[in-house]
Amino acid sequence: MKFTQLGISAPILKALEAASYTNPTPIQQGAIPSALEGKDILGLAQTGTGKTAAFAIPTLQRLSNQDKQSSKRVIQSLILTPTRELAIQIQDSFKVYGRFLPLKSTVVFGGVGQGNQVRALKAGVDILIATPGRLMDLVQQRHINLSAVKIFTLDEADRMLDMGFINDVKKIIKMLPVKKQTMLFSATMPKEINTITNQLLVNPVNVSITPVSSAVETVGQQVVFVDNNHKMDVLHNFIEENTNESMLVFTKTKHGADKVVKELNRRNVSAKAIHGNKSQNIRQKTLNEFKTYQTQVLVATDIASRGIDIHELNFVVNYDLPDVPETYVHRIGRTGRAGNTGIALSLCNFQDKSLLSDIEKLIKKKVEVMDNEQYPLTDFTPKPKQRPARSRKVKVTNDKKKNTSPATKRTKDAPKKSKKSRRRTLGQDRPRS
Ligand code: AMP
Repeated sequence: MKFTQLGISAPILKALEAASYTNPTPIQQGAIPSALEGKDILGLAQTGTGKTAAFAIPTLQRLSNQDKQSSKRVIQSLILTPTRELAIQIQDSFKVYGRFLPLKSTVVFGGVGQGNQVRALKAGVDILIATPGRLMDLVQQRHINLSAVKIFTLDEADRMLDMGFINDVKKIIKMLPVKKQTMLFSATMPKEINTITNQLLVNPVNVSITPVSSAVETVGQQVVFVDNNHKMDVLHNFIEENTNESMLVFTKTKHGADKVVKELNRRNVSAKAIHGNKSQNIRQKTLNEFKTYQTQVLVATDIASRGIDIHELNFVVNYDLPDVPETYVHRIGRTGRAGNTGIALSLCNFQDKSLLSDIEKLIKKKVEVMDNEQYPLTDFTPKPKQRPARSRKVKVTNDKKKNTSPATKRTKDAPKKSKKSRRRTLGQDRPRS
């Protein structure tokens, strides 16, 4: 199928061609025609498969089609998204797809001064991309008026509707006109938020690109069982085996991220951390340095797990497994984007094996177990019953070195095959796209 078959207008087709998009992705094929008709949309598709264009293209086209009603621009489309980085990225996409249209967009998010954002709003915008906190601040200060919104989109809808954001989102929805088009897009949609989804959407068109809650097939998923005190050794070996490859490493805590960076730097690996304790300007600078290959390893907490699009990123490492299985899908979705291949390696200690089982249940497949002859598990302490799981403030234990013997070749360990037939070097075997 071609973009021309979706009813997209000439200026947007021209912009897509300039961006070297040849064919629409399945979520774009499914969502764009109905969204262009103004219908509510529930779009579920794997991360990295073009959801932004699936809502940005119809938004741009519907707004550009209408007769000019007043000389002053008013906000007619609001896109809410959970993280600042994602908000910036979405605005970049609007600029790409709308470059031949006379529409204006801007982005507001917290963590930076509001001066520039207020100036942009004062100049007049048609499309606003926002994170909830700053949006509400600016509404309260009367810099933003949402009463003319015609198209409302919740990106990463599952996150926006979960406990952390739902109250803000409900308040924002109350500021919007009742009659409007609503689009919800997400890669995962836990059952608990089905009810609220149904309340927000009116006769929605469901576009579900199966399987939801899974990573694209082009991402090879591997796990190494290793004690906490040897995770750094395994990570370092993995980095050395994949010289000069960019790697995104996820940790559970901000402190953990800083610690991993410190140790990698000590081992002469160029690494920087991005997490909520860094100022927004530093976060953006660090992300840009990683995207432009100035830093080899970016160590991040889950603020970077959703939506962030890093071109040709082949490796994601879960230094710690996430407590929430859906987060795993988002994290590993930073690789294997737009049809590319990738490897997602998880480091799992004995206590986190139950988290791995939860993940495997969600993604409905087994993660490939890699042999770890050099640093085998030695700590079989069972998980404490009252462990503060699901809390974000889980402390990472101290990494004391026990074993510093030279690396032996790590090999794949698929449980049911003979050992000989299983030999393969960790991370070297990327699935084909
Ligand atoms: P998204 O899921 O919207 O973050 O998109 C993931 C990546 O796919 C981004 O780098 C987009 O620029 C790219 N992309 C989206 N749609 C297409 C398409 N139809 N053809 C080629 N690349 C695309």
